[in-house]
Amino acid sequence: MSDKRVTAVLYSEKEPDDVRRARFGAFLRRKYGAGTSLEWRCDPEVRNGFKLVVGADVYNWTTEARLAQLKEEIYAAGESEGGFDVIPLIKESLEKWRPRVVADQIGKIISVGDGIASVSGLDEAFYGEIVIFSDGSRGMVHDLTEGRLGCMMFGDDEGVYEGSEVRRTGRVAGVPCGYGFLGRVVDALGAPIDGGIAIEAEEYRPVEQAAPAIIDRQPVNKPLETGILAIDSMLPIGRGQRELIIGDRQTGKTSIAVDTIINQKDKNVICVYVAIGQKASSVASIVNTLRRTGAMEYTVVVSATAADPAPLQYLAPYAGCTLAEFFAAEGKDVLVVYDDLSKHAVAYRALSLLLGRTPGREAYPGDVFYLHSRLLERSAHLSDARGGGSITALPIVETQAGDVAAYIPTNIISITDGQIFLEGEMFHAGQRPAVNIGLSVSRVGGDAQTKAMKKAVGTLRLDLAQYREMEAFMQFSGDLDDATRRRLKYGEGLMYMLRQPRNTPMSLHAQVITLVAALADSFPEAEPQELRGLLDKLVGICESEHAALCSRIEGGELTDDDKAAIIAAAAHVS
Ligand code: ATP
Ligand code: MG
Repeated sequence: MSDKRVTAVLYSEKEPDDVRRARFGAFLRRKYGAGTSLEWRCDPEVRNGFKLVVGADVYNWTTEARLAQLKEEIYAAGESEGGFDVIPLIKESLEKWRPRVVADQIGKIISVGDGIASVSGLDEAFYGEIVIFSDGSRGMVHDLTEGRLGCMMFGDDEGVYEGSEVRRTGRVAGVPCGYGFLGRVVDALGAPIDGGIAIEAEEYRPVEQAAPAIIDRQPVNKPLETGILAIDSMLPIGRGQRELIIGDRQTGKTSIAVDTIINQKDKNVICVYVAIGQKASSVASIVNTLRRTGAMEYTVVVSATAADPAPLQYLAPYAGCTLAEFFAAEGKDVLVVYDDLSKHAVAYRALSLLLGRTPGREAYPGDVFYLHSRLLERSAHLSDARGGGSITALPIVETQAGDVAAYIPTNIISITDGQIFLEGEMFHAGQRPAVNIGLSVSRVGGDAQTKAMKKAVGTLRLDLAQYREMEAFMQFSGDLDDATRRRLKYGEGLMYMLRQPRNTPMSLHAQVITLVAALADSFPEAEPQELRGLLDKLVGICESEHAALCSRIEGGELTDDDKAAIIAAAAHVS
């Protein structure tokens, strides 16, 4: 700034005398270089003080500004103490308060519309900084071009107009975090929207955070049980893993995520459910389900519905991740669900196009890959030196007509450690959860699977693949020999075994007993449709008559004798 000629404007009620002029002159030369000139304008509004405007810098020494400064300091003190016990805070702040001339950087709005404000004059603002508009609403700097900033607005733009003022805060966007958030529904800025009392925060964390470094991580080695047989047996998920749930609309994606949250009861896992661009009624019904099942006690719901401004939808998953990081830093295991990232990408595309960025493939901006990779890379199993906590992520992506090769699905498939592919056709045929085992994988969870489950699952995947092949072949030939008919019936039974209604998580021992009995073909006479009922009966019998066996399995072990005992017990079930 020093080589430019700057004009400083001084606003005050009375004209400054020579002594004051000389003082201002000295200050300006020191700060802005020799070429600075001072101009005085009479402003009767400015009482008891002055306002000095140099470019975007405003030195405000008026009564209002000093009061505002005091207010801010009391507020900041309250934030850092964690609570707002007002009276001692005011006392302390007053004692510590030394009025100073604060330089505010103030810019002007060039244009505003569609939730985007174009701002001039804030030369030193940085990417991600929060700015305050003249009506008190907030925005975030998201686009930096010479002489102009693009800001996304978190509120509506009613009180903001061309020429109105914008103030820098010097702070990046962040959310308050703390244990008080458990059981609550909050918006993308961490403010409660469930009608409850204010949430007491323990910390304020920036929403953009670097992912843990390699040295701070350890391999995934503890299972995160979903309670869904098809997933826990063949697509095991480990704590710290990122497993994508992908499928067309209305194929049960959300149900899998919600069931997984419900299954974390008494498992010492904290859950964060992030709803992005969904209908408010859908979010309400999810919250109801979580409340009804008692899962809300250990869950935070972050919601930016379809009606919320695109910037809030953009911010929501980062806010959810930041909350998850708070708990993980405390050594806790955390599960975070992003429902869903296709809508997140759409909100980001809308923002980018409004900011005038060049559209790329499918009109998404070029950095849409980075958008999701920097989010998902933050899930990790932290090293013991960092407390050993973990963040497991279940991002959800909606496909169009099963097209997994579209831009956003391929991006996210490449960032995650596997995917659970849900198929519309299976779903409509009643095979729910509609997991297509052939197209689904879990790349790291196998290491985390318990020995009992590994032993029980045996050849399930192979048997199912064989059944699928035979099923296709069966469509061409009516006459089948007995052996083939047997294999088909067995396969069909396995498919029925994998059917599971919503909100009915299966415990580890129930899953293991079911698998052992079904894979041993314990009920050769039963119709495939009946198999599930028989297996449930068997689990009940084992629970009441072989309690020791059940608890051994819960401990992760399955001996050959246990296996034989299960098969023997199955012989008495009818
Ligand atoms: P959207 O694309 O609208 O987000 P989605 O893929 O998230 O849908 P869900 O909302 O989970 O799908 O489920 C769609 C419907 O299917 C719901 O009415 C739900 O009750 C039903 N459903 C989901 N899973 C099962 C299941 N395992 N058994 C029976 N019904 C189920
Ligand atoms: Mg859904």
